[in-house]
Amino acid sequence: MTRSEDLLAAAAAAPGFMPADEGRALYEAALAVEVPGPLLEIGSWMGKSALYLAAAAVQSGRRVVTVDHHRGSEEHQPGWEYHQPELVDPAVGQLDTLPAFRRTVHPAEDVVVAVVARSETLAPLWTTPLALLFLDGSHTEESARRDQDAWVAKLAVGGTLTVHDVFPDPADGGQAPFGVYTRVLASGDFTELPGTGSLRLLRRDA
Ligand code: SAH
Ligand code: MG
Repeated sequence: MTRSEDLLAAAAAAPGFMPADEGRALYEAALAVEVPGPLLEIGSWMGKSALYLAAAAVQSGRRVVTVDHHRGSEEHQPGWEYHQPELVDPAVGQLDTLPAFRRTVHPAEDVVVAVVARSETLAPLWTTPLALLFLDGSHTEESARRDQDAWVAKLAVGGTLTVHDVFPDPADGGQAPFGVYTRVLASGDFTELPGTGSLRLLRRDA
């Protein structure tokens, strides 16, 4: 197996919420980008999607930057649907997904740069044009808009925006990522590429 195939297999086996077909589509989107620059992810969780991106990065000579405060999103907090009590750091009394993230990403740690921060804290410090931006952080209306406003403008012309958890039908899931996708498309500066499941791809033309 090539290194990229090894990383794809590790990604498929890693803990997290990214279905196999969407992970594969994320990898292919990252591999297909033709402009120079890093692949940047908002929302690392336990590193599953970062490994899919890393599988493309090792093939194309890129780096993956992934940003997360590692305290979880709203739905991961105590009392919510996706809460996992064993993830709470007793010394701090908050979630800590960084140890699991490091374990997952270990086979790709030469190409993955993890930034432990809130995305809105990193954004004003970030100037390198991005080849690919993967938006998969907090999905509240306010934070999804904030990530859109802070990060989409950092995509290189010709770069690819990928948005996860896009559900046009409210019965299937929250509407914040769908709102991002809709607004970006309405800007007229992007062309839609074929998506997979809730993963949507938009190429920046202008
Ligand atoms: N992309 C991952 C899943 C991400 S889950 C995968 O597919 O494997 C969403 C993540 O966003 C959580 O880990 C949460 O901690 C993170 N997050 C939520 N709000 C954030 C913020 N303001 N800045 C950075 N990360 C945030
Ligand atoms: Mg997601």
